[in-house]
Amino acid sequence: MASFFAFTPAFAEPQGSPIRELFPYLGRPGMVSLAGGYPSPSLFDQDGLAEAAAQALATGAGALQYGATEGSPALREQLAAQCRARGIACEPGEVLVTTGSQQGFDLLLRVLVQPGDAVCVETPAYPATLAALRQAGARVLSVPVDAHGLDVDALAELLARTPAAERPRLLYTVPSFSNPCGTLLTQARRERLVQLALQYRMAVVEDDPYGELAFTSERPAPLYACAQRLAPEANPVIYLASLSKTVAPGLRVGWMVADAAVLRRCTVAKQTVDLCTSPLAQSVAVHYLRSGRYPQAVARACAEYRRRMLALTDGLARELPGRMSFVTPAGGMFVWASFARDIDPQALFEAAVARLVLYVPGKAFYADAPDLHTMRLSFAAPEVPQIAEAVQRLAAAVQAVG
Ligand code: PMP
Repeated sequence: MASFFAFTPAFAEPQGSPIRELFPYLGRPGMVSLAGGYPSPSLFDQDGLAEAAAQALATGAGALQYGATEGSPALREQLAAQCRARGIACEPGEVLVTTGSQQGFDLLLRVLVQPGDAVCVETPAYPATLAALRQAGARVLSVPVDAHGLDVDALAELLARTPAAERPRLLYTVPSFSNPCGTLLTQARRERLVQLALQYRMAVVEDDPYGELAFTSERPAPLYACAQRLAPEANPVIYLASLSKTVAPGLRVGWMVADAAVLRRCTVAKQTVDLCTSPLAQSVAVHYLRSGRYPQAVARACAEYRRRMLALTDGLARELPGRMSFVTPAGGMFVWASFARDIDPQALFEAAVARLVLYVPGKAFYADAPDLHTMRLSFAAPEVPQIAEAVQRLAAAVQAVG
């Protein structure tokens, strides 16, 4: 029956998150999921966070009151220090605290993108970004990635052949340990990308929730820092970061660093969205970051995620030689795998679910023309023995349908 309500075009035929649509399968007894993008609950520093929460509540009414839309001065100071530790020259006034980095992207779309505008997106891409762009009415231009991240040559070609009036306003990328590919953009490509952004007057959104989760010493500075060096007067990069993957997503604390004009407009946009990010959560984050436990928590997460990643990639290489190909990630939470062309993607998914192992079919990560012979596997949430079991089940599923 038609609804009483007249919905906006973007919500006339709403498509929910393809990953959240897998949730019903998770309820099956014995299911091992490689589908989620959730951090491991065993890595939450519960003691440290409990202490920080007690301090937040003990320090007067501030944490219970509305706060400044930009974020609390104390948290902006801590987050600016985080940025400096990553190589970004940053002062507290250049930080906007957001309700997760997800909100940062949404605010940017409000202030930078109109329906019909072209936006470049690395592909495969984070599905919530694709959904936000769909809701904003943007025209998505997919730019391929390879083992070293965004293919900057392909981007250069795309920009060169697009008439000036139709050029993209924005490019979205996760240069460090991407979701879904786990790849790390090389330093040379970082520089080339900044140069292309300057040449074509294109904003670049650098989404960086995973950059701290490095498994090796290879850690190029954020694109934002690279752009500060190459274009000190007019940085085309907007930096989004988050405490979700390194502290806890339940805090919903993220942040944006950008040009003052962008930050001001995003602040005004945020005023009508949530007034401010939860002052209670901000205060917990401040006390946690001040406690000095953060670096240790990140080091523990890196070591454990590396162990889980190796359990997955070594297992896949051993159990499915020649049937599955992937790039071993140097950080983050994901492996992006392609499977043999003679395997039917839907049959494989059904065989996997029947054997109680879940992954995200690759289709979810494309705006158009999906490569259906792909999947995203997350090694972050399951423990090593569960990962080993998941590999066995996946191998059995491939053998059953291949
Ligand atoms: N960007 C990417 C690439 C992500 O993978 C995620 C979380 N899955 C987010 C943003 C959202 O993070 P937050 O919890 O900070 O909103």
